Order: sequence, then C-alpha cells, then structure tokens
Amino acid sequence: MLKLTPEEAAFCEEVRAFCAQTLTPSITARVRAGMRPTPADWLYWQAALHAKGWGAPTWPREAGGTGWSHRQIYLFDREVAACDGPPQFHQGLELIGPIIYAFGSEALKSRLLPRILSGEDWWCQGYSEPGAGSDLASLRTRAERVGDHYVVNGQKLWTSYAQHASMMFCLVRTESGGSKQSGISLLLVDMKTPGIRVQPIRTLDEQHHVNEVFLDDVHVPVENLVGEEGKGWSYGKVLLDRERAITISYGPRLLRQLAYVREAAAQVATPTGPLLDEPVFQARIAQLEIEILTLEAMGLRTLEEIQEGLDSGPRGSMMKIRWSELLQTMTELWVEALGSDAERFARPGQGPGEDDTFETAGPMLAYLHGRVTTIYGGSNEIQRNIIGRRALGL
Ligand SMILES: Cc1cc2nc3c(=O)[nH]c(=O)nc-3n(C[C@H](O)[C@H](O)[C@H](O)COP(=O)(O)OP(=O)(O)OC[C@H]3O[C@@H](n4cnc5c(N)ncnc54)[C@H](O)[C@@H]3O)c2cc1C
Repeated sequence: MLKLTPEEAAFCEEVRAFCAQTLTPSITARVRAGMRPTPADWLYWQAALHAKGWGAPTWPREAGGTGWSHRQIYLFDREVAACDGPPQFHQGLELIGPIIYAFGSEALKSRLLPRILSGEDWWCQGYSEPGAGSDLASLRTRAERVGDHYVVNGQKLWTSYAQHASMMFCLVRTESGGSKQSGISLLLVDMKTPGIRVQPIRTLDEQHHVNEVFLDDVHVPVENLVGEEGKGWSYGKVLLDRERAITISYGPRLLRQLAYVREAAAQVATPTGPLLDEPVFQARIAQLEIEILTLEAMGLRTLEEIQEGLDSGPRGSMMKIRWSELLQTMTELWVEALGSDAERFARPGQGPGEDDTFETAGPMLAYLHGRVTTIYGGSNEIQRNIIGRRALGL
C-alpha cells in the first residue's frame, strides 16, 4: 500500500473530481464492459485532458507534458481507472512523441508535439511488415531520396487504427548492406499523401482495428525525417525506459476490471443463488485477485526502485507478460460468468448489434481482442528472451 502525502491525497481528489466532471456515460459504459473507447471518445478525452494541462502525463514539462514523477503518473492512472476512465491513446503520446522531442528537429517539435497533445493528430505505427514482426530489422519498405523528398515503396502490416490516423511514423530502409539494423530511417508520413492505400483486416473479434498499408511512390518531404538518415533503429531505445512508467499502472486497472467481473457474476442466477457466491467461482476470483495484487506489488516495487535511481532490470518485460496473462484469464472468467449471453456479440462484419447491451457484448469482445496482448508490444516469447538475457545472462 502506498502511504500518500497530504499533497498526493489532494492530487488524487483533484483527478477524481476532474473525471466526475469530464467522463461521459458512453465512455464509462464501454470501459466498464471491457471495451476500448470509440475514436471520437478518445479524441474528446485527450482534448479534455489537454485543456486541463494533463495532456501528456509522462512527458517532461519542456515538451509540453506535466513533468510528473513516476509516482504521480501511477496515482493519476490509478484514479482514472477507479473512475472507469480509459487509458489515453498511446501511439502518439507514448510511442512517437518521446522520440520526436528527444531526436526531432526544432521544426518537427514545434509543428507536431502540440498536435499530439491536443489530439488534433491521430498517429499510427508503421513498423511491422510481412516477414518483419519480432525480427523487425528485416523490414523491406524502401525510401529513396529524390531531391527534397523521400520516395517510399513497400507494405506495412497490422497497422492499428490506420483508417483513422492522420499521420504514420514509419520505419523504412534508406540503405542496404551492413548490419540489418543500420540503414533504417524513421519517417513521419502524412496519411493523406497520394500513393497510400489502407486495407482493413478483420480480427478474431470481427472488428476493424488493424490494416495493411500499401505505399506506392509516396513522396515524403525530407524535413519529415526524424534525426539522422540511417539511425532510425537506435531511436526506439528511448522508449525502453519509459515502458516501466506504463507497466507500473497495469495493476490498478486490472483490479478495477476484476470488480466489473464480480458485478457481472452477482447478476447471474444459479440454482443455488448468484454465481458470485458459488464456492468454485469465488475461489477462481480470489486466485486471480491474489495474482493481480502480486503484479501490483511488483509495480510499486518498481516505483521505489525508480525513486532510488536503481535499475529494475527486466521488470518491464516481466510485468508485460504477467499483465497480458492475467488480462486473458480475467476476460475468460468474465465470459464464462455470462455464459451463453456472451455469445451475442457477433454479427458478421459488424460490432455489437443494436439489441445487445455493452454489458453482454463487451466482455466477449474484450476476451477475443485480449488475445493480442501476448503478441503485440514485443510478443511474450520475445519478452522471455529479454528476461533470459538481462536477468540470467543467457
Ligand atoms: C491486433 C494487432 C495490432 C498490432 N498493431 C501494430 C501496429 O499498430 N503497428 C505495428 O507496427 N505493428 C503492430 N502489430 C504487429 C505486432 O507488433 C507483431 O504481430 C508482433 O511483433 C509479432 O510479429 P509477427 O506477427 O510477425 O510474428 P512473428 O515475429 O513471425 O512471430 C511468430 C511467433 O514466433 C515467436 N517468435 C518469433 N521470434 C522469436 C524468437 N526470437 N524467440 C522465440 N520466439 C519467437 C513469436 O513470439 C510468435 O509466437 C500488431 C499486431 C496485432 C496482432
């Protein structure tokens, strides 16, 4: 348990008051049903946080962020989760924003960072390709410099929300030869540029989150190169340390989600009373809660280490693995609790039907979409390799 200072307690109170004023019933209903916000809701939430000065909780002040400590970020995330608020959309805020303010030109910083903060730009991540996922350095999308432009040709795969994005940060090969990692550059691409074609992929949950993105002679101005040509691979390293800040907040959100499962189970009648009171179900919930509390303890330990300036080793990888596994176990339990009601989520090629409430449609969508958590952000096998290298010296 964290012991809060009076200032911290007041801060938590301020976050709760802000959430109470700002979160709409449509946002909280989706979060409580295990679903992600709609793009419109996400933009609304980002704009509201920005207006309050909280647009980028993890960014330093000089980049337009809050400058909060890891502890404040954790408290903020914990309170937002407790109020059934969503996490912020992370591709602009957590993936490309920090690279732009660390390595981008002054022109890129002043042009693009404010638009990430306000939510005016929606960013997608163009890294993965056919044959280049875990082994990302094998990517083959090429960019050739012609005058004051790069001409880009290739294909990106699994590009989340490319259909909504106004900008894509894209790893491209500008040089061949040498090591696979050298000769890769990071380009910022306006999604309206001629030559970009976005083709939807429907995932297991029958939703359209991800896409193939084809790039045919796409002209990208040279000033949209981040940092130096050929050095794009190394810029991703700045994100590694930031991962700790993100994984620390997994515990509180999982605990809140477990409360939703409990609420659902309390409404399910069995011959002997509500499902929630059934001993085997209770034992499963209790086991899950213990494991989530263990993850939470690991997050708090990481917080202490950060405050003391200690290296947490591969704890970010360990927490990513445990979070993804626990999320999958929890959504499975949630679906089991709802029984056949949970099946009513699907209509071919559509989202939840009009006669379905979020309460019944959401958990199945969350369960199916939750499969991705062990794949993206570095698959769990890759995370285990990192742990093997960093903790065991393998
Ligand atoms: C829903 C979804 C959204 C995504 N969003 C984006 C996005 O917005 N932008 C983007 O760029 N990418 C995105 N991705 C891609 C994601 O990052 C990759 O799927 C992931 O990196 C795995 O790559 P892959 O699919 O090519 O699988 P592969 O790398 O081919 O891996 C296949 C299997 O082999 C295992 N494996 C591979 N290499 C090793 C190894 N060295 N040791 C042990 N096991 C190994 C993997 O763990 C996996 O189980 C998304 C993926 C999904 C499913």
